[in-house]
Amino acid sequence: MINYKQFEVWFLTGSQDLYGEETLRQVDAHSREISQYYNDSPAISVKVVFKPIVKSSDEIFATIQDANNASNCIGIVAWMHTFSPAKMWIRGLNALQKPLLHLHTQYNRDIPWSEIDMDFMNLNQSAHGDREFGFIMTRMRMNRKVVVGHWKSAHTLGELDQWTRVAVAKHDMNGAKFARFGDNMRQVAVTDGDKVAAEMAFGFSVNTYAVGDLVAVINAVHDSEIDRLTEEYEDTYSLVASLRKGGERNASLRDAAQIELGMRQFLESGGFKGYTNTFEDLHGMKQLPGIASQRLMASGYGYAGEGDWKTAAMVRALKVMGSGLNGGTSFMEDYTYHFNPDNNLVLGAHMLEICPSIAAEKPSAQIHPLGIGGKDDPVRLVFNAAAGPAINVSLIDLGNRFRLLVNEVEAVKVDHDLPKLPVARVLWKPAPSLQTACAAWIYAGGAHHTAYSQNLNTDYMEMFAEMLGVEMVVIDKDTQLRQFKNELRWSDGYFGK
Ligand code: MN
Repeated sequence: MINYKQFEVWFLTGSQDLYGEETLRQVDAHSREISQYYNDSPAISVKVVFKPIVKSSDEIFATIQDANNASNCIGIVAWMHTFSPAKMWIRGLNALQKPLLHLHTQYNRDIPWSEIDMDFMNLNQSAHGDREFGFIMTRMRMNRKVVVGHWKSAHTLGELDQWTRVAVAKHDMNGAKFARFGDNMRQVAVTDGDKVAAEMAFGFSVNTYAVGDLVAVINAVHDSEIDRLTEEYEDTYSLVASLRKGGERNASLRDAAQIELGMRQFLESGGFKGYTNTFEDLHGMKQLPGIASQRLMASGYGYAGEGDWKTAAMVRALKVMGSGLNGGTSFMEDYTYHFNPDNNLVLGAHMLEICPSIAAEKPSAQIHPLGIGGKDDPVRLVFNAAAGPAINVSLIDLGNRFRLLVNEVEAVKVDHDLPKLPVARVLWKPAPSLQTACAAWIYAGGAHHTAYSQNLNTDYMEMFAEMLGVEMVVIDKDTQLRQFKNELRWSDGYFGK
């Protein structure tokens, strides 16, 4: 969905002039080797670019200014192979506008027991050099990611790639445009919020576009394009008989295809990365977009219903982070419960718009009436989502700040036939239990809308929150309500009420 290789991470090694030319030559050679290794590794999604060793305040400042100005540089990996007195870093770090990963590694994995001498010690001294670097960032109250381990270890590569994916999502969000068709659903509180504050915190903008202007694009779609897309529907999904060519509802399938084509064209020509709409404002549209929103999400657009622009932006961000990984990400809503004491479950769904990237099976294209919106019956894709671990992510506006909520869940196989349920659905067990998870979620003010992701975990969201400087609360297997409520109180103390 997104070409990661267009982005660069700059590999920056700190040192000083104290050690003489021979040591610096080795530092240089080792740093080139490590950055080349990362650049060539299939485990790292972005380009990794070696930068000459920095040994003075001026060199550090100049390199960081270059990184700030390089539009394809999404972050800096910094490593102190030797000791690099950290007052030299203050000016550069003050200017830094990109995320920073502090790689706490060492060139030599093992101590060469029979060979080790003071030359080895002087060269391989990141164990204390990186502490000096860590101090100055803590002293400057800087958020950063610290990764510890030998540079070739799978763990180090894994954490580095997670971080680069989050940094790409942050980069993608900065300047991203989201289109809002209609306002948010009347009277709903949690989907509303401060779009100016969001643009200041996250860098994305949300602006409204008249539904009539979108309808004009939809109405201009050619029949030949509709022919092509309905054929694609027939090839990709199991169509109910009435929707197929010659079927009595085939005209509705063609209407749905026309809506998708028009929306896609509107979003592409406007350079949008996502959108939100509302069933309360569909003037001139024949159906509420169902299959259209589902397929646009599957193409990478951020989407959420009912004017929920915050969730639309999060769906996009999670799709960027998870691009190329197994599993998908969708707009989601906690819909209904199974309160069986032996098997508590949440059924997640929406009126129509669940992304087929999370499907366990070939989706079925169906047509059913919709009780809201007062339009023609919308075509939608119906499927069960795949079982396995997932996260639900909600972004809410608390007035003085944004809060990111994460709940770890385990989706289970949908064992029952649900012949009368005309929407895609997920069944999950929230951690640590439905009782604790839902109470914690509600105490924290989490929305009913979420971004649901199968291919990401809480670590990604932690890095995302820290990069953006927003609060995050996590509900996982260790959550205890009394402690959780205290965390919320302490957070109010930290951020202010
Ligand atoms: Mn909803």
